[in-house]
Amino acid sequence: MFIGHFAVGFGAKRFAPAVSLGTLFLACQFADLLWPMLVIAGIEHVAVRPGATVVTPLEFISYPFSHSLMAGFVWGLLFAWAYVWLRRSRPSVGVVLAFVVVSHWVLDALSHAPDMPILISDSLRVGLGLWNSYVATVLVEGLLFVVGLAIYLRSTTAVDRTGSVALWTLAAFLVIIYAANLAGPPPPTGMAAAWSTLAMWLLVAWGYWIDRHRRPA
Ligand SMILES: [Zn+2]
Repeated sequence: MFIGHFAVGFGAKRFAPAVSLGTLFLACQFADLLWPMLVIAGIEHVAVRPGATVVTPLEFISYPFSHSLMAGFVWGLLFAWAYVWLRRSRPSVGVVLAFVVVSHWVLDALSHAPDMPILISDSLRVGLGLWNSYVATVLVEGLLFVVGLAIYLRSTTAVDRTGSVALWTLAAFLVIIYAANLAGPPPPTGMAAAWSTLAMWLLVAWGYWIDRHRRPA
């Protein structure tokens, strides 16, 4: 799943208006921001196997620290605690952030082949395999994205021109890289996939930039 995660980040703004969109992106994509670093460090493993599922050629051999449900709970709690502590925020804001972090696992478990571990020991892998259908994947992710973006648009207003331009260029950019990923050739190696996924950090910075130019409606 890709743009579906960002949908959660956008939509969460309604439930935590004081939290920057950048922080919400960091939360909804925490697993995928951590994953490339763990792959590059040799701690988690991925291979390219065209046909692994219809949508992705990536075979996720092992990724319990970034992508198990148990790790998701741990990261969610740590993320929420760190935010509430650093920003002197209400605990209810932390609850929203913890949910957003854990939502990543839920959406990935919907998309992936049965390779999503429940436990950090990498055992009990699940996955409903939405990725076995192009049409279903695009429909579900597209719908999530539209709903998430709509909630975000109703929850915030631009304070200047940049507030609109930065938001709409990001939305267009996400759709374009999503389409390019769906239609493009497979990456040469798993390591190459990890290195290119590192670029996702730029989207977090983009979220902070947008947030500085929009305010809660
Ligand atoms: Zn993921």
